[in-house]
Amino acid sequence: MEERIKLIQGDITIMPVDAVVNAANSSLLGGGGVDGAIHRAAGPGLAEICRLLGGCEVGEAKVTPGLHLHAKYIIHTVGPVWKGGKNEEAEKLANCYRSILLQAELHECNTVAIPNISTGIYHFPKQLAAEIAIRETRNFLSSHSVPVTVTFVCFDQENFDIYRDLLNS
Ligand code: ADP
Repeated sequence: MEERIKLIQGDITIMPVDAVVNAANSSLLGGGGVDGAIHRAAGPGLAEICRLLGGCEVGEAKVTPGLHLHAKYIIHTVGPVWKGGKNEEAEKLANCYRSILLQAELHECNTVAIPNISTGIYHFPKQLAAEIAIRETRNFLSSHSVPVTVTFVCFDQENFDIYRDLLNS
């Protein structure tokens, strides 16, 4: 596995990194899944700050402080809802990874942890989502020195197995 890409299985809210990525919805006002977990761990101040951001478009990313997380920043992105694959879902998910990594660079985050965006409530096929995540991250890292490392944090066993196989191939 390449040195600058890491893989773990677990809860992203406890990651000791410069920036944790949130798979938010376009309102940025909180939700279920990883979004709910991040809001609970960061504290109620996060919703207050997010309210001022005026939402976020699919494929884009916005940054807040990490508040009670170990992470200095939270990079909120909005993944596409899977609607069969003919609605530019793949391109939109790729845009999420590019936006995240650009924001990480802009905020001088050396270490970033990213969850499996869109593969929960938004039903994006896990294999395709992992291929896009790894391809876009490799592309970005090949031409940028920051972030130094990106850790993919898989919550479920299925995603972890898919990432492990792709990263080892
Ligand atoms: P989306 O709406 O983008 O699909 P979800 O939060 O429903 O977002 O799911 C995205 C991924 O986050 C799923 O693979 C889910 O298993 C994972 N997930 C849920 N909770 C956590 C957590 N605490 N840490 C890391 N990943 C998580």
